[in-house]
Amino acid sequence: MYFNGTELKKVFLKAKKERFGIIASNVVFDGTIRGLLQGYDNKKSDGLLQISSGACKYAAGDSKDLLVGAEFISSMVKVLAKQFKKSGVGLHIDHATPNYFEFIKDCVENGFVSSVMIDASKEEFEENVRITKEVVKLCKKHSVTVEGEIGYIKGTEDEIVSETELYTSPEEALEFVKQTGVDLFAASVGTNHGVTKGEKVVLRLDLIKEIDDLLIANNVETGIVLHGASGLTAEQQQTAVLNGVVKINKDTDYQLLTAQAVQAYWEKEKDAVVCPEGVNNEDYTPDKSRFDPRKWTIKAENAVQEQLESLVNITGSTGKSIV
Ligand SMILES: [Zn+2]
Repeated sequence: MYFNGTELKKVFLKAKKERFGIIASNVVFDGTIRGLLQGYDNKKSDGLLQISSGACKYAAGDSKDLLVGAEFISSMVKVLAKQFKKSGVGLHIDHATPNYFEFIKDCVENGFVSSVMIDASKEEFEENVRITKEVVKLCKKHSVTVEGEIGYIKGTEDEIVSETELYTSPEEALEFVKQTGVDLFAASVGTNHGVTKGEKVVLRLDLIKEIDDLLIANNVETGIVLHGASGLTAEQQQTAVLNGVVKINKDTDYQLLTAQAVQAYWEKEKDAVVCPEGVNNEDYTPDKSRFDPRKWTIKAENAVQEQLESLVNITGSTGKSIV
């Protein structure tokens, strides 16, 4: 089923209480959405699908109208999600920088999403707090969940390019949560956006626990979000969850698996579209039964589903749906 913001808050509260992690998956295409929804449902795990401004721009085609893209993806998610009865998903806007405030507002007021991330982490702390508070105020009216961010997460993401790695300080996290009232916040603990080899990541999972402990001691326990988690091992993700992470973002993983599944298909089935060597072009006919896009895009869909199912086993959300 499709979760509104109120239901989504319950999901994250349960995850925090019982210490399991919700996998948040970035989407654009219908096949990915289908594979993920099937995966969450097979595992009776709740989930979150995410759209970035880049995804919305892409989905809108030449119009480049972000709102058209958001409505299009939102409709697909809602219609498909209705078919699944053993789990639920919300739809979240990933990394909306302050210049996307109007976009957030339109999405929230039109009911396109149940959750948003305002990423004003490039601003000075006070300005980050001010902007995030404004988004919290707007979202509260519509019971939409809000995620904020403190400190940079290394790497490249839509409109976020940061060269330096800045770790979030527990004191700053406490101030941020107290002043903004966010439901979730992303902390920088040394993860990188994009795929990275494990050894290059200077991960500080202990910092998550330090932040979590401080928040609990001050009666403002809040869900922590882990970005740039595609390169982390299963064990690292489990430690992160035990230390207070309730949402783990996945994007690059799925992109790579999608490309690999399609590549493997065409390596084997190349002669369905390319005349094999030694055969006369006049004697060659492409094979529709193999080049029909449904025959090969399903491979990507299945790969993404399989990956999601193994991810929810790792983060412990299997069987934990509030449905
Ligand atoms: Zn991120």
